[in-house]
Amino acid sequence: MEAFELRAGDAIIPVGLRRVAGAKRFTLRVRSATRDVMLTMPRRSSIASAREFAERHVAWIQARFGRLPKPVRFEPGAVVPVRGEGHLIVHRPDQRGAVWIESPADELAPPRLCVAGGAEFVVRRVRDYLRREAARELRLAVGIHATAIAVTVASVGVRDTTSRWGSCSAIGALNFSWRLIMAPPFVLNYLAAHEVAHRVHLDHSARFWALTQRLAPDTDRAEAWLKAHGAELHRYGAD
Ligand SMILES: [Zn+2]
Repeated sequence: MEAFELRAGDAIIPVGLRRVAGAKRFTLRVRSATRDVMLTMPRRSSIASAREFAERHVAWIQARFGRLPKPVRFEPGAVVPVRGEGHLIVHRPDQRGAVWIESPADELAPPRLCVAGGAEFVVRRVRDYLRREAARELRLAVGIHATAIAVTVASVGVRDTTSRWGSCSAIGALNFSWRLIMAPPFVLNYLAAHEVAHRVHLDHSARFWALTQRLAPDTDRAEAWLKAHGAELHRYGAD
C-alpha cells in the first residue's frame, strides 16, 4: 500500500493511502486500533497532492490523536484487563516460574499478574502469557460449539489482527485476535461461536445469526460490548 509519514509536532504519524475509483475528493480517517491515518483519494490523484491535503489538516489529525486512549505498556505498575477484569502487573524477579495470577487478601485490591525473571523480559512474558491463555480458551470454546452443532474445525490460531476479531477460512481454519482474552469471557465465547457458525453458513444471513444466537445467547450483548470497548483493547501491549 502507498504511504507516507506526516510530521505533527514531535510525532511522526503514518498515513496510508487508499485509491478509490469513485472518490471525488480526499478524506481522512484516524484509526484507533493501528494508531495511524487512512487517506482515501481519487484514483488518479498524485501522492504530492495527498500529502499536501494531509499537511493542511494536521491540526485536525493531532486533535483526533489527542483523543485516542493512551497506549499502555505491559510493564510493572500497569493495569491490564484479563477476562474483563483489571490486573496489576507486578514484577517478581526472585521468584521461579513465568507469569501467574494472584488474588490479594484485600478484596478491594486488584488481582495481580505476577511476572518472574529479568526486567527486560516483562513486556514479552506478559504478552506471551496472554496469547497462550487466549489460544487455550478459544480452543476450548471452539471445541464446545463445534461439538454442539457437529461441525469440524481444521485449526484454531491467534494473531494480532486489527480489522477483525475472528475469521473462518473455507477449509475451517479459525483465527482470532489474542486480545479477546482481555475482554469479558462472554465476548470471547461469542466470537468462538460466531466463527464456528461460519462452518455452516459462510455469510451473515438471518440463518447464520440465528445459529450464532443459539450457540451464544449473549451475542447481542457481546456485539454491543465490542462496538463500545473493542478499540480500547488495542491500546495494551505497545512496544
Ligand atoms: Zn462473520
